[in-house]
This record gives sequence, C-alpha cells and structure tokens, in this order.
Amino acid sequence: MKRSGFLKKTFGLVGAGFLFPQVSKANGLADKSIENAPFSLPNLTYDYKALEPHIDALTMEIHHSRHHKAYIDNLNKAVQNTDFANKTLEELLANVSKLPVVIRNNGGGHWNHSFFWKVVGPAVGSKPAKNLESQIIKDFGSFDNLKTEFNKAAMSRFGSGWAWLVFKDGKLQIGSSANQDNPLMDVSELKGTPILALDVWEHAYYLKYQNKRVEYVNAFWNVINWDFVSSQFIN
Ligand code: MN
Repeated sequence: MKRSGFLKKTFGLVGAGFLFPQVSKANGLADKSIENAPFSLPNLTYDYKALEPHIDALTMEIHHSRHHKAYIDNLNKAVQNTDFANKTLEELLANVSKLPVVIRNNGGGHWNHSFFWKVVGPAVGSKPAKNLESQIIKDFGSFDNLKTEFNKAAMSRFGSGWAWLVFKDGKLQIGSSANQDNPLMDVSELKGTPILALDVWEHAYYLKYQNKRVEYVNAFWNVINWDFVSSQFIN
C-alpha cells in the first residue's frame, strides 16, 4: 500500500475495531519470533558507568537493556503484521489518538528513551549554544530560572512521567507528561519540538536515590549534553 493512502484508509477503519487482533499478546518479554521487526534498541555512545556518580551504572544498564528494550519489543509486537510497521515512529506518535493504547505507551517509551540517551552524556562541561542561551534569557530571564521551572515540572509530575523543555511558536516552554506521553503526540497538552527531557519514572533513579527524586533531578544537570540539546533548537 502506498504510504500516502495509508492514513486515510487505515484510520477510516479504526472505529470498526478489527484491525488489531494481535495487540493483546504484548508483554514485557523479549520475543525473538518477530521477523523484520521495524524498531530496534539504539546503542549508547558511552558506557553505562559514564554518568557516574550522578546516574549509576546499574540503573543505566537496567534502564537501557531491559526497560527500553521492553518498550521496543512490545511496540514491535503491536505493529507486527499491520500497516503500522511501515510508519515511522514520529508518524505513529502524531496520530496516536487513533491508535491502540499499546502503541501510545510503547511507541512513546521508545521515542522518549532514545531521546533521553542523547540528552545525557559524560559530564564534559558543555554549555548551551549562543542562540539557545539567548532564547533562554528571553523566555525565562536567566538560566537559573529555566532550571528552577524545569525542576518544578519534574518534581510536580505525580507518579510516572517526563519533564520537557520544548520550542513552539518562537518560544521555549516547560511542562511535563504522564507515563510515556510526549510533546509529539496529538493527545499531548504540551506540544512542540522537544529540546530537553528528563525521565522521572522511579525506574530511572530508585536504585541510587530511592524516594529522593529531588536529588536525582538536581544531579541530572551535571550530565546534560548541551551540544546535543542545542542541536535540537532551531530558531
Ligand atoms: Mn525510563
């Protein structure tokens, strides 16, 4: 089927309820039986221990090799033998309100973690690029104000979710999302181009910080790869 015809045809049938017979099989286990799985676990460009002491090696290993992998396995199962397997992840997210919730949760999980592994990196003293720095000062008054607002979003997200800095309509905005939702989803209240993201699920910090999310949120600022973050800001 041609990609251009896919959206109209498939989404026109969603209401009929017979498109997703295999979705209920999704679970957290790796499934080697999926052939030509469209989504795969990206390699990190640094060691699991590279973010120590701010984010510990065991948390990184479990987070990447088990949690992120589970989202990918479940996403691959959800799209197996459907036309969704021919869509990009971004196309799925942009239309996620019309898709099964298993794609929303696991597609979001795959996108968010792939992004997060690039937002963080070994602490090498990188700084926001000049154009991003100017925009931060314009929209927040100072870098410290940005940090305060972002940390507030990360701390006030009840339960599992993400804190975000996005760029939309010429303005930087801070917000948070529940579960694995993100600003690329049509269902998201916060929309825009993601610039910075922080995973505030307990699995992201509990081994080292237990219930002290605030310590993890503060430590995050030591391992932000501002070269990558700045590259996401196109004004
Ligand atoms: Mn996570």
